[in-house]
Amino acid sequence: MLEKRDFYINGQWVKPAKANDLNVINPANEEPCAVISLGSQDDTDAAVAAAKAAFEPWAMTPKGERLDLIKALLEEYKRRAGDMAEAISMEMGAPIDMARAAQTGAGIWHIQGFIDSFNDIEFETSPWPDAPSEMIVHEPIGVCAMITPWNWPMNQVTLKVIPALAVGCTVVLKPSEESPLSSIVFSEIVDAVGFPKGVFNMVNGDGIGVGSQLSCHPDVDMVSFTGSTRAGRLITKAAAETIKRVTLELGGKGANIIFADADEKAVVRGARHCFGNTGQSCNAPTRMLVERSRYDEAVEQAAAEAQKTVVNDPAQSGRHIGPVVNKLQFDKIQGLIEVGMSEARLVAGGLGRPEGLNRGYYVRPTVFADANNDMTIAREEVFGPVLTMIPFDSEEEAISITNDTVYGLTNYIQTQDTAKAGRVARRVRSGMVRINGTDSTHPSPFGGYKQSGNGREGGPWGLEDFLEVKHITGLES
Ligand code: NAD
Repeated sequence: MLEKRDFYINGQWVKPAKANDLNVINPANEEPCAVISLGSQDDTDAAVAAAKAAFEPWAMTPKGERLDLIKALLEEYKRRAGDMAEAISMEMGAPIDMARAAQTGAGIWHIQGFIDSFNDIEFETSPWPDAPSEMIVHEPIGVCAMITPWNWPMNQVTLKVIPALAVGCTVVLKPSEESPLSSIVFSEIVDAVGFPKGVFNMVNGDGIGVGSQLSCHPDVDMVSFTGSTRAGRLITKAAAETIKRVTLELGGKGANIIFADADEKAVVRGARHCFGNTGQSCNAPTRMLVERSRYDEAVEQAAAEAQKTVVNDPAQSGRHIGPVVNKLQFDKIQGLIEVGMSEARLVAGGLGRPEGLNRGYYVRPTVFADANNDMTIAREEVFGPVLTMIPFDSEEEAISITNDTVYGLTNYIQTQDTAKAGRVARRVRSGMVRINGTDSTHPSPFGGYKQSGNGREGGPWGLEDFLEVKHITGLES
């Protein structure tokens, strides 16, 4: 078993102030695969103090030097990609090929995206030609605490840490206690690159401990959080006393509107997307809304796709899906499937593990048909491979069902009528809309409306999140 008890504080690996071991459980076999420490107030304080001391010199470092270090980090990340993929696969159950390509690859995509976007940011501008002595200056906000989830560990860590470091902030990262191993590899990568000490710090811990200590810490200027809406609310309250900036990326219950004229692969594509990463994606299209004339056929196609979806050991190569992350999530998903069975028509999957898998947190890809949007299965984020299908009769009704949720992260539209696609895309309330299976091709803003959060991560939007705006008048021109 791996022993990974140390934290990365002030440029070195240090022992926790107080021993408090936590076993990391491999969800594929329910066995401990590593032991880490949960930090205490003293560890949090030491990491914040190191980040605070490092802030001013780091913020004053020429931006080209900071960018060179980020470029070196990207090279080191690529060199360690194999270790990263293994860590992610073991800690949260992503199948190894997917852990390499999508999970670890997301980190490469984001780091490169920030490098590309960095030069577009104008840190100092003089926006008024008739007032040359006035200037707008963008400055790093300060010490940033980053609290991340387990479902896309490196996607989240790189979306936060890289832009913060690039613009001159210093960082204390608290990764999810469910997926700490990838962040330990990430900290080794930062260490190998040779950032000045204190610029990046990593303390493991749980939400109630290090998570809330960071959220209310007087020397933390900003908290960037990704995770559940429940924790986002608690962090916002904890941060209120010190008026720190809080950016939140939270849950979702995305609608996938399939109009009668959608391309023939639309249903299968949507079901696959819903089951990908074992349903553990905040932007998953979990409510499939299908126009009535195509509905029965769509139910058959989605059920067939669920039955065809292979669930298997993440250590094996292949395109299967793995287990969900832990017992808590497994039990929560089973509970929601049970509720769904009392509300709607189960057409694939259901309770219990898939056949042949007796150990590990494996869930059956499940489809509910004939649901309506008031049902629990249509309202609650399941965070497992569970698809809810709802029929609709008109464009207006599809928009109304889509928007009838507390969430607003990503919605999906399938139609060959481009005017209709554009019209509907402008009326659904979400931070992202994907038409006909397309996805972003450039660094782009990731984030939600309503209770899906308030920040935007990625590209120039993600860099700006970590900046303050200063207006200076009376400069010598
Ligand atoms: P979680 O909210 O329980 O945990 C996320 C992180 O927050 C962990 O590091 C945890 O230790 C910490 N945390 C928990 N309670 C805290 C508290 N009171 N104070 C400070 N920190 C606290 O969520 P999870 O179970 O790890 O992740 C699943 C959820 O995250 C889902 O709801 C999913 O939709 C959401 N998510 C959203 C996005 C997005 O970008 N919008 C991305 C990934 C996951």
